[in-house]
Amino acid sequence: MRTAPETPADVRRHNLARVLRHLSDHGPCSRGEAAAATGLAHGSLTALTADLVGRGLVREAGLVPGGGRGRPRRHLETVPDRVVSVAVRVTRERLHLAVADLSGRLGHRSDVAHSTPDGDPGALADALAAAVRETADAARDAHPGAHLAGAFLAVPGPVTAGGRVFSTDFGWPGPVDLGALLRDRLGEAAGPVTLANDANLAALAEYRALTVLRGAPPRSLAYLKADVGVGGGLVVDGRIEAGGHGVAGEPGHMPVAFDGPPCPCGGRGCLALYLGPEALT
Ligand SMILES: [Zn+2]
Repeated sequence: MRTAPETPADVRRHNLARVLRHLSDHGPCSRGEAAAATGLAHGSLTALTADLVGRGLVREAGLVPGGGRGRPRRHLETVPDRVVSVAVRVTRERLHLAVADLSGRLGHRSDVAHSTPDGDPGALADALAAAVRETADAARDAHPGAHLAGAFLAVPGPVTAGGRVFSTDFGWPGPVDLGALLRDRLGEAAGPVTLANDANLAALAEYRALTVLRGAPPRSLAYLKADVGVGGGLVVDGRIEAGGHGVAGEPGHMPVAFDGPPCPCGGRGCLALYLGPEALT
């Protein structure tokens, strides 16, 4: 989820991200091709790519012949393992971790069982911190000199714009600032911690996979998942559409019977009570 850039520094950061994204998805390509695809002026693009080259994120990929009588052009490409991040999928029983580079390629992977008591976010943060620390160390060993961009968590339950998590899976009665609990334990070394709803991220992954499959992005996509709970996500024009309350496309706690059994969320007769594996068994 992105917000509109406001200050000149925001605009610059936004444009650097656009160029880097383009080179990551479509590189190697020339400055001219990148300018045309991103809609940036040629001069701006040259300055932005010089910045990215200076940061070690982009490099010259060699000369290719220009069309007709044109001069040979220098192609640019990203340096994928200049930046790595730790991705974590959090479930009720396990933590699935992977190191991803700038191109999205996965390196070191691990899978850790955890048994954190219901209603104790601190215990989950302890287990997460240990697993993230170990994976970040593996990332540093495998990619010497890489910048660690931080940890990205896919969590079961809605996530507010401020990064607080509602999770009945973990028996939390209210929103929990899981990112802050994790940052307290990890300190500065592991970089920033970012959280998003797991079904939203799965929706975004399906959107990207469909884009590759069809050769063009679908305009929108609705995704439903059912494992422990019932979740879902909406993607519109390439972005997660979370709605005003951060729960758009999440049908699990939609009441389907107002006189139904009580749900851990505080409501009654939620869909998750009827469709989940616990209800089934
Ligand atoms: Zn509910």
